[in-house]
Amino acid sequence: MHELAIAKNIKDIVDEEIKRHEEIKKVERIKLVIGSLHAVVPEALRFNFKLLCNDTALEDVVLDIKEIPVEGKCNNCEKSFIMESHLYICPFCGSMKVSINGGDEFFIESIIGEE
Ligand SMILES: [Zn+2]
Repeated sequence: MHELAIAKNIKDIVDEEIKRHEEIKKVERIKLVIGSLHAVVPEALRFNFKLLCNDTALEDVVLDIKEIPVEGKCNNCEKSFIMESHLYICPFCGSMKVSINGGDEFFIESIIGEE
């Protein structure tokens, strides 16, 4: 239940933000950026978040999840590509000398609330 732990983390951060910004009366939307390397299932994350926030001020919050694909770069032919699988193989030349760029992002982009 990897998504439950993530949902809890997000909730803790948002709770902190609400405490710091007294002008926020109600949070409407939370924008998240999650790289594919984290293998988060958006539906599972939304479900767990809703479960955690049941009967709290965050109950009706919409989670906007932006997934960032994992980008690979071949060290042999120097082409970049989106990694569709966990096989670290260049689709152009078949080299396994592939570096990973991006896909490990994980942050809250914004918290949108009513003032
Ligand atoms: Zn290559």
